[in-house]
Amino acid sequence: MKVPFLDLQASYNEIQLELDKELFSFLHSGQYIGGSRLESFEKNYAHFVEADHCVGLANGLDAIEISLKALGIGVGDEVIVPSHTFIATWLAVSNCGAVPVPVEPDWNTYSLDCTKIESAITKKTKAIIPVHLYGQPVDLDPIIELSKSYNLYVIEDAAQAHGASYKAKKIGSHGDVVAWSFYPGKNLGAFGDGGAITTDNLDLAEKIRTLANYGSTKKYVHDAIGVNSRLDPMQAVVLDIKLRHLEDWNNRRRKLAQKYLSALKCTELILPDQFTLLDGAWHLFPVRAIGRDGLVAALKEKEIDILIHYPTPPHKQKAYAPNFDGQNFSISEEMASQLFSLPIGPHLEMDKVDFVIKTIIDYLD
Ligand SMILES: *Cc1c(COP(=O)(O)O)cnc(C)c1O
Repeated sequence: MKVPFLDLQASYNEIQLELDKELFSFLHSGQYIGGSRLESFEKNYAHFVEADHCVGLANGLDAIEISLKALGIGVGDEVIVPSHTFIATWLAVSNCGAVPVPVEPDWNTYSLDCTKIESAITKKTKAIIPVHLYGQPVDLDPIIELSKSYNLYVIEDAAQAHGASYKAKKIGSHGDVVAWSFYPGKNLGAFGDGGAITTDNLDLAEKIRTLANYGSTKKYVHDAIGVNSRLDPMQAVVLDIKLRHLEDWNNRRRKLAQKYLSALKCTELILPDQFTLLDGAWHLFPVRAIGRDGLVAALKEKEIDILIHYPTPPHKQKAYAPNFDGQNFSISEEMASQLFSLPIGPHLEMDKVDFVIKTIIDYLD
């Protein structure tokens, strides 16, 4: 039985009527940058994530990078990032001239180990970027408390956490600013690239909007050295429609996660047992296996698609390795050698999940 990792065409098929109708009306509108469709999505997304403001941007990397720039972070500054994350979190820091300072993850949550942050803070530290990796909300309170005592900004990388909650409030405005990606494979994905920031800080939202629009608030008046990083209104049309289905689609992910958790708990696989079932967005279902590669081969032989998030930590990539020569981030390295992600998504049928489970149990027995 072929089990795709994520079936994006199925999500189009489910809402094709709504999408086709509204996309055609967009094509007829003649307004192809900015406009009411973009404003509608920004308003609806801010409301959904319980934030006061949303600014649409071109992608998730830009969302982090422009947030850093808007906070005045640049050359000579340090920013604390997880050693275990997608490399975009680091690149955003490097691209604005600052230095990413990695902190090791916690073995249970896979996100920043809060007890290790304080010793990484120096006089140059300006911000912390917790990443809600795999769609699991980071325990933000201790990080925000720490940031207050050292006068640091908290920029959340929520590229995998659309619809996740922390302490009964949606991820979207706990930190100073929250960065989102709408890359097609994310829980809320466009038909191309897209991104956004959300925040309760109006001044910051306006700064970010200006930077993303050539540093301009008024046509041909440029107050800052900005970039072009706007969210396409056509993507906003898609996102606005998909947003109506996000809660339902996340709940389907939660059901599959629950199934994996209960069916695999008696195996030697290490499951995301500290993850919160209902608060998480379950962008991915990561598991750890000591002898990963044999199990992965057995799954692939049965045409079950798995992915490794992520096979090589940023500090081991050529882009960064020379700067981290001799430094030890052994937890992220060990995690990278053990983790892999099982298929999960709103359109994955339960019989396919059962087949994945059976294949794993047969192999491990
Ligand atoms: C996807 C992702 C990004 C980057 O988003 P893009 O839209 O691809 O630029 C950043 N951080 C994390 C954790 C991601 O998963």
